[in-house]
Amino acid sequence: MKFGGTSVGKPERMHQVAELITKDAESKIVVLSALSGTTNSLVAIGDAMASGDRETAKQQIDKLEAHYQAFIPELVKTDAARAKAKAIIAEHFEFLTIILKISFSEALSKDILAQGELLSTKLFSVYLGEKGIDHALLPALEFMSIDIHDEPQVSAIRAKLMPILEQNKDKKLFITQGYICRNVRGEVDNLKRGGSDYTASLVAAAVNASVCEIWTDIDGMHNNDPRVVKKTVAIEQLSFEEAAELAYFGAKILHPTCIWPAQQQKVPVKLLNTMQPEAAGTVITQEAGSVGVKAVAAKDGIIAINIKSSRMLLAYGFLRKIFEVFEKYRTPIDMITTSEVAVSVTIDSGTHLKAIVKELEPFGTIEVEQDHTIISVVGNEIAQTQNVLSRLFEALTPVPVRMVSYGGSKHNVSILLPSSFKTQTLQLLNKGLFGLE
Ligand code: ASP
Ligand code: MG
Repeated sequence: MKFGGTSVGKPERMHQVAELITKDAESKIVVLSALSGTTNSLVAIGDAMASGDRETAKQQIDKLEAHYQAFIPELVKTDAARAKAKAIIAEHFEFLTIILKISFSEALSKDILAQGELLSTKLFSVYLGEKGIDHALLPALEFMSIDIHDEPQVSAIRAKLMPILEQNKDKKLFITQGYICRNVRGEVDNLKRGGSDYTASLVAAAVNASVCEIWTDIDGMHNNDPRVVKKTVAIEQLSFEEAAELAYFGAKILHPTCIWPAQQQKVPVKLLNTMQPEAAGTVITQEAGSVGVKAVAAKDGIIAINIKSSRMLLAYGFLRKIFEVFEKYRTPIDMITTSEVAVSVTIDSGTHLKAIVKELEPFGTIEVEQDHTIISVVGNEIAQTQNVLSRLFEALTPVPVRMVSYGGSKHNVSILLPSSFKTQTLQLLNKGLFGLE
């Protein structure tokens, strides 16, 4: 069971988490994020230090400490528990204060970022202790690791985690930190922002859990973006492939890379709502469950690059040469469409755009279009389902569609359009595909 920042962000939320994890007697590993807002503050502290602004860093540290000090009296009631919680806060803020005095480095910034999850889990453990709830705190830094490419490997995690669980055979409840891990140099590192979901999926895969529950503040994945359209509904069931597509193309509820470990070990993933625990949420399993469109999601900040060349006509090896340029600059391509004389690709990072364009120029005429959005329509057997494609394009009538991609998989159609049309398009699709306003 993984609980996100808002699910542990207030003392009463932590109390509720304790209730949720003790509802049944099954053994479980509980992964916690940092309290909401903490990781952002730690990023700001690191940034201030990186730019040599120790004054700002110090102010941010003090502000964060005050937040935690105010958290304690609401979290725990007994003097003994309050003293323990105070000692934990003292330890971690002393560490941050010491860091202020050392010269800044990349490795040190990772140490700073790790404080959030260390604090949340330790404080939660104090609360469980006060309530007499038997549990063990598992230090993620002793079993979560990333390899030389900064990628976590289930087998490596399993090899370290199993003996620790073995040593705690008498326990049924384990608490551990999301997000943080060690790299190949043995330094503290992390799984990138939002990485607690990833931790949960990796741990679930490593121990072959019966289910991986991701508890957040929304009742599952929705069919459309609730910030853009008025009415959305939670999706009951998705396949791993559909869920991966949605997570990658903008459904904020799940960290996009977090799906593969659970998928690999066939551990079902449930997305549940801490504020509404009875709600069914979304279940993600191996099979798609039903056919037809399930959701649309949008990803902004997309750049389209068009390469036009008559040399492409009847040529072979042309795409390889183009792809090599993107590989060289480690820039992933999201969408691709081709005609006999042109190819369009999209990327979501402009970091190396200038250099990429320069290297593409010898291949033909290059056009770059910024500020685009990919809208991804996700479901199973989309083309086989009656009318889906016609309803889709009918809904898109007023939209200047720039690219369409279908056929890479049976469960996705992606459309590229100028970002200024995103809101309108999501609304049109909500009506056209789901009959919702
Ligand atoms: N605390 C980390 C973050 O805010 C990890 C997470 O919450 O998933 O990015
Ligand atoms: Mg989070």
